[in-house]
Amino acid sequence: MGKYAIIHRESCIGCGNCEVVAPELFELDEEMIAFMKLDHNQGSIPIPKGNIDFLEEAVEECPTESIKVSDQPFNK
Ligand code: SF4
Repeated sequence: MGKYAIIHRESCIGCGNCEVVAPELFELDEEMIAFMKLDHNQGSIPIPKGNIDFLEEAVEECPTESIKVSDQPFNK
């Protein structure tokens, strides 16, 4: 089963931890708020298997629990 992820941007404080831990998945925008790079924060594209460990580490490192993960696409 695939994993999908989005950033809850309203609670992100722009600390940058997710980008450091998983630079292929997360990036800070010009407002210093993180977004999921794969699908412009839509949560519609499954996380590649090779990035799942990085995703889980980013979730652990996010101080505001702003990285949301689901087994279903978020845009359904
Ligand atoms: S780790 Fe969390 S709070 Fe920090 S930039 Fe990423 S989503 Fe935002």
